[in-house]
Amino acid sequence: MHVTTDSGTSETLLSRRTMLNTSATAAGLFAVSHPLSSAVSEEAAALRVQTVLGSVPAERLGVTLMHEHAPLVDWSELFETSPAPIAPVRSEMLAKTAGLLDAFHHSLNKSEGPGAVVETTPIRVGRYPKLLVDLAKRTKVHLIASSGFWCEALAPQHPWAVRMSVQKGGVDRMAELFVREITKGMEDPSGSWGERYTDIRAGIIKIGTSTYLRPSERACHIAAAIASQETGCPITTHTTTGGGLEEAELLLKRGASPGKVIIGHQGHMDDRENEEADDYHRLIARLGCYVQFDRVGHAEYAVPKQARQIVKLIEGGFLKQVLVSHDHAPYYCPNYAAAEKRPADWKAASPDYTTATTELAAELRKMGVSAADLRTLLLENPQRALAFAVA
Ligand SMILES: [Zn+2]
Repeated sequence: MHVTTDSGTSETLLSRRTMLNTSATAAGLFAVSHPLSSAVSEEAAALRVQTVLGSVPAERLGVTLMHEHAPLVDWSELFETSPAPIAPVRSEMLAKTAGLLDAFHHSLNKSEGPGAVVETTPIRVGRYPKLLVDLAKRTKVHLIASSGFWCEALAPQHPWAVRMSVQKGGVDRMAELFVREITKGMEDPSGSWGERYTDIRAGIIKIGTSTYLRPSERACHIAAAIASQETGCPITTHTTTGGGLEEAELLLKRGASPGKVIIGHQGHMDDRENEEADDYHRLIARLGCYVQFDRVGHAEYAVPKQARQIVKLIEGGFLKQVLVSHDHAPYYCPNYAAAEKRPADWKAASPDYTTATTELAAELRKMGVSAADLRTLLLENPQRALAFAVA
């Protein structure tokens, strides 16, 4: 792939790396060499990030992509149909996805690596904990898995979440489920709902809203706020063309800590009216929450547009509350509502997990963002957002 550098020349990722590795003055994305010791790292030292292979000190993550799907997404259970078969494509999925994550890892130099990816596929929409462990073992990139339920955007709410959202005491039971997934291990989707559990822990809670907040989504938000308050685990959200401010306000009202709330999918029509809702982003940031530009590389979230919006937040004094990612999924099953699925139903893509660290980073530098600020954005902010006192 091609990136445009500050000098206006175009070069491949490979040649950029060669340049970085051989240049005496350049130290990778951040161009200045300084140790990882800052107030942030000291504070984070007591806290850890919970990956699928166990907890690690936050400063070991390196550059972290905060909202990705790897290897897959499958909405079948939302339509009460069986998920697409994994076994026939499992090894292909692992090899291909590990290759894509390795490309991200290799795009980082030593002071930026090894790299981490937050896998934001929540309960029963293609989250297979054992598959994530096998993937993590095949790449140097750390993988952080999600508890939580998805929303009603583009598909119904999961029937398990609907049931808990209407039952007496159901929201508390949902919160208990999230806490269990964070402190003991995630549910194993090979059984019926809640029947079996793994000992693989989640390191973040993923929830979301459709265009407007639906009753089941409200239940998931309240449960997430309770679980986050109890464990310290961060919450990350899906938004659907707006709603991020309402999400943040609801989560905070229900006890979540602003520094553990990440409002996602920002960067396009976030106030439901304007393509670039800079004022709206500032309102979320003023609450103390993170504003996450996690669709870098998607058509309507063009890189220069995302960069402009990020720079506006930095100018407003909110550098430490900006996060980035791509929201890519190498595999998904488009026939989710079909009663029967075949291995051939899997749709595969080869998404690029390096756009944020190459194209977006170059654009931000071009717009005057310093190397140190870029490091804060790509490396230190994720550490702070993801770290908590792991049990
Ligand atoms: Zn996503």
